[in-house]
Amino acid sequence: MTFAATVLTLYPEMFPGPLGISLAGRALAEGVWSCQPVQIRDFATDKHRTVDDTPAGGGAGMVLKVDVLAAAIDHARSMQPLSPVLAMTPRGTPLSQARVRELAAGPGVTILCGRFEGFDERIFAARDVEEVSLGDIVLSGGEPAAIALLDACIRLLPGVMGAPSSGAEESFEEGLLEYPHYTRPVEWEGRTIPEVLRSGDHAKIAAWRKASAENDTRLRRPDLWERHIGVRDRPASGARRETKDQGK
Ligand code: SAH
Repeated sequence: MTFAATVLTLYPEMFPGPLGISLAGRALAEGVWSCQPVQIRDFATDKHRTVDDTPAGGGAGMVLKVDVLAAAIDHARSMQPLSPVLAMTPRGTPLSQARVRELAAGPGVTILCGRFEGFDERIFAARDVEEVSLGDIVLSGGEPAAIALLDACIRLLPGVMGAPSSGAEESFEEGLLEYPHYTRPVEWEGRTIPEVLRSGDHAKIAAWRKASAENDTRLRRPDLWERHIGVRDRPASGARRETKDQGK
């Protein structure tokens, strides 16, 4: 089954862009996924094909018009009725590997890319749209965020990555950062590869990698570490309910 990516954008020429190269490019050529950029401007109704207007209440920049956005979304939904519609916005839920995995397991995704100051807020009440953020940064448009999101989905599609196991050990898959990697030369500028990785003792290597992943996550990403510990140590649901009742 082909994973269908529909991208609503004012810059359809940005697609597939970097996704036409390397792993994703090969998968595109093989029909593992498809890329359908849709020009939002085609859904403007006036003779100037206006897609934006000045912000209500004043201030800098322009806002994407809700009627044009709705027409573009409705069109995409009629083409791909089963795909979720995601709007890229810094106000959205931060994208996670867990969500990427769910999306990659589905029929595809429709991505709405903002520009200027962003979207008229009423679109989110009027249409079933999931607001997604790439992180606490501000891009000039949703397109690079869409490319990152699609890249993360595509590499998980069946047959795209070489070894089937290589996806499972990556950062975030177990709620941890991945352990560090090394390759030859064994000595470089006086620095060596950790002895254990050269020992050939697979149990010891696995233990070192697990300890490194845990340690690095604790030091670099206390937020992930807290969540990991919470999930690991959480009592069975019955026990949790008891604790809650006791508190009453
Ligand atoms: N005024 C907005 C930023 C608009 S940036 C604000 O302050 O929240 C223009 C467009 O770039 C947005 O509509 C969105 O589609 C995209 N964009 C910018 N930063 C993003 C991010 N962190 N994640 C996802 N999309 C982003």
